[in-house]
Amino acid sequence: MLVVLKPESQVMNIAEQLIDSKATIFRAGVWKPRTRPGSFEGVGEKALPWLQRVKKETGLITAIEIANTDHIKLALDYDVDILWIGARTTVNPFAVQDIADELQNTDKIIWVKNPVNPDLELWIGAVERLIQAGIKNIGAIHRGFSSYNSSHYRNPPKWQIPIDFRRKMPDIPMICDPSHICGNRDTLENVAQTALDLQYDGIMLEVHNTPDDAWSDAKQQITPSVFKELIYRLVVRQKSIEGEEFLSKLSLLRAEIDTLDMKIIDILYDRMQIVKDIGKVKKEQNVAVFQKERFNDILLKLIEYGNKMGLSRELINTIMKAIHIESIATQEKIINEK
Ligand code: PEP
Ligand code: MN
Repeated sequence: MLVVLKPESQVMNIAEQLIDSKATIFRAGVWKPRTRPGSFEGVGEKALPWLQRVKKETGLITAIEIANTDHIKLALDYDVDILWIGARTTVNPFAVQDIADELQNTDKIIWVKNPVNPDLELWIGAVERLIQAGIKNIGAIHRGFSSYNSSHYRNPPKWQIPIDFRRKMPDIPMICDPSHICGNRDTLENVAQTALDLQYDGIMLEVHNTPDDAWSDAKQQITPSVFKELIYRLVVRQKSIEGEEFLSKLSLLRAEIDTLDMKIIDILYDRMQIVKDIGKVKKEQNVAVFQKERFNDILLKLIEYGNKMGLSRELINTIMKAIHIESIATQEKIINEK
């Protein structure tokens, strides 16, 4: 039986389940910037007393997203502990400057999510505006970068950007947000572990009592118990001055390889969709599936192209032939379908 809780009880219920979970901060979107109109935009001011209750009854400190001066005034009135600037706000220097002016000299913790586009300078610029406004407690959140048609990650992590950020601003703690990077539940742990291997200072994960019913980002939500299991499985590696650089380098390179391998699969998938469309056209026109000259032509061009980049004839030959065999089989199937 599904028990539907009233919103305040739902918030308390989730917070209580997180008490013994290693979580120290309760993040909640009170105002939510939505890509399309008509989506759930958050409960608004009404939810701020609920967060005060969370803090009082569970000891978890609270964090919300703010995007304008009205949000900030209310967040300060209700004594929210951490205010974060969302990815869609970080892209706008006017908005960030207004926020910095309103927060002038605050001792609250302010987090800056990376901008949605992969622009290191924009991220650093937002942090600089806060520093210039006399704000001392600043953190950065890595939530990945938007990309058109990315089927594996919702927002591919592009690890090199946060690494470059830390090189330029080594005193700003870095938190990873695997929920918004992955957009699904399957790869959260992998991304969280990579972040820890790269010596991040914290992990931000979205949790919901019944994830499939969530009004926003349902696919990436996990239950408090799955959250606990995941967090306890994560390994915090020993920091040794010597080992640290090696481990970070190795983790970064492995993460890049993993991302590229998934991209290869994504590209093969996209290619196969087009192969299927061609199969349908061939069927309509009653044309033979295998066109030898075309394949030989393509193969020669690709071998030459690969050679220029130092990739062997054998590698290109093996991969392209395997792809071609699969493509022919797929088209044969389409053409022979009744
Ligand atoms: C969020 O944290 O729920 C959110 C909207 O994230 P982002 O700003 O990273 O898209
Ligand atoms: Mn979200």
